Amino acid sequence: MSARRVLMPPLALTAALTGAAVAHYAAPLPLSAVAPPAAQFGLPFAGAPGPDTWMLGQGYGNTTGAYRQRRSTYGNLQGIHAGLDFSAPCGTPVRAIGDGVIAEVDGPHGSPPHNVVVNHAGNLASLYGHLRVRSPLRVGQRVTRGQVIGESGDSQGTCVSAPHLHLELRDRAHQRFFNPLPYIRADWNSLALAGSFGRGYEYDLTRPRRWQTPDDQPAALRGGPLLNEYRQPWPPAAGGAR
Ligand SMILES: [Zn+2]
Repeated sequence: MSARRVLMPPLALTAALTGAAVAHYAAPLPLSAVAPPAAQFGLPFAGAPGPDTWMLGQGYGNTTGAYRQRRSTYGNLQGIHAGLDFSAPCGTPVRAIGDGVIAEVDGPHGSPPHNVVVNHAGNLASLYGHLRVRSPLRVGQRVTRGQVIGESGDSQGTCVSAPHLHLELRDRAHQRFFNPLPYIRADWNSLALAGSFGRGYEYDLTRPRRWQTPDDQPAALRGGPLLNEYRQPWPPAAGGAR
């Protein structure tokens, strides 16, 4: 858990604790200021999962897909997929995972074409990405758990190629990324049984048991060193390239 051992300069720490200058790319909040996981949130969809509704598509963490793009798409996130992907038809209502306040609508946090960020208690924030259209909600508006905050879309913009919701759980300074599983009350064992893409995790053959299950995945720190720059990766990088 090297990402959890981050030394912070005293000035940045003070700013983070007082809330002064905590912009989107401010210093990470100290872990002691962030609520630990306690299954305090719910799923971003109502109703039962299934092929016509929603399913878990790609896990959080050291996935094979993130590994292949560790120096590009995920290079600033220590090489890991920093959220959960839920496969869902375009237009599926997306719900707040917990009570909170709308912090961003189409803010600077990626996951296009549209996204929403909700701030929660405990200095946590949830991001809902690849939404189909701009959310009608306004920044500063309170939302309750289960309230519809938007509709799911497609990262490719086609509603056919890759319709899914990308859900992240971050510290409120948007510097730390957490595995949502222990924060969200759900039957993850069953959800993990059926999925459509990217279920696998990249092996480091020198430590083949590390980060191989949905609930054993590292937290990430924005801009930190790659966690998966493996000397003996499996599957190997495409073309054997480095
Ligand atoms: Zn994703």
